[in-house]
Order: sequence, then C-alpha cells, then structure tokens
Amino acid sequence: IKSEGAQGAIRKILCQYRVKDVKSMPVVVKDTSSIYDAIVTLFTEDAGTIYVTDRDGYLAGVVSRKDFLKTTLGHIDIYKVPVSVIMTRMPNIIVTTPDETVIEAVKKIVEHEIDSLPVVKKYIDENGDEKLEVVGRITKTNIARLLLDLANQKKEG
Ligand code: ADP
Repeated sequence: IKSEGAQGAIRKILCQYRVKDVKSMPVVVKDTSSIYDAIVTLFTEDAGTIYVTDRDGYLAGVVSRKDFLKTTLGHIDIYKVPVSVIMTRMPNIIVTTPDETVIEAVKKIVEHEIDSLPVVKKYIDENGDEKLEVVGRITKTNIARLLLDLANQKKEG
C-alpha cells in the first residue's frame, strides 16, 4: 500500500461490509456420509471445502481438498469409511457469523491459512453447550469478488 490514506480508505470500506453481505451457500454433508460421497459432492457442488454436520444438523467438522488427497496416501476404503474420520473437527473449527465484519473474517482466513470459513448461528443447548448451525460459507473467492465489485463501483460512480 502506497500511502496511509489509501490504507485507511481500504480499511474503512472493508469495515462497512459484513459477512452476510458477501457470503454464499454452504456445501454440507452428514458425518455418516462416506468419503466417496463427500468427494462426489465436492465435484457436483463445485466446492473446495465441505462442512460436515452431526445427527442434529449442527457443525461437526470441515473437509478440504487436502484432507481428501491425504486419503490417497494410506489404505482407507473411501466407499466405507465415513467422512468424519478425516475431517478437521470441532472445537478446532474457525468460524464467522453473519454480523462479523468482512475485515475480521479476512483476518481469520489469513492468520489460520485456510480457504474458507463456515458462517454460523450460535445456540446454547439444554446442557449449556454451544451448538453451531451452518448458514453460509465465506471463501477467498467471495473476498476477490467484493474487491472487483468495489473497483467497478469506483469506475462507474
Ligand atoms: P486446502 O486443503 O485446499 O489447502 P485449506 O487450506 O482450507 O484447504 O485447508 C487446510 C486444512 O485446514 C485442512 O486440514 C482443513 O480441514 C482445515 N480447515 C479448513 N478450513 C478450516 C476452518 N474454517 N477451521 C479449521 N480448520 C479448517
């Protein structure tokens, strides 16, 4: 960034946008789905990362392309083994919420070196445990699209 002014302007713009303004639909499979079925979903839904839900429909884990690739190194039966075996699981999932600012979400993506964040609504169940309902996803592509939209807006207005 060349000047302090530009930096301030970019920060200001990114703070105006919230996750709900740029999020897209999540791609979700059940934790009982086979690795094979999850890979098929990855292709049919054209997603890089899939979110995995437990039997109550709450977020249980995340599987990325690299997690699937890893299974080719071992002797896992992808038709039989459930996706829950290879996913990154709760509570180690980095999430965002609809009302978080885009700048906060970008910070998480960069700091944790991940491609996407599940957008969640948080609930407390009867045992006092936090449960996360997946309502969207935010990826590096969403951020790139926002930047492009902002650049085009500038030109027109
Ligand atoms: P890729 O596999 O395409 O490099 P990522 O960089 O997003 O995709 O994923 C790297 C690792 O981080 C994978 O093991 C994945 O399960 C995990 N991961 C991806 N997204 C999240 C997230 N939001 N929270 C925690 N772990 C994640």
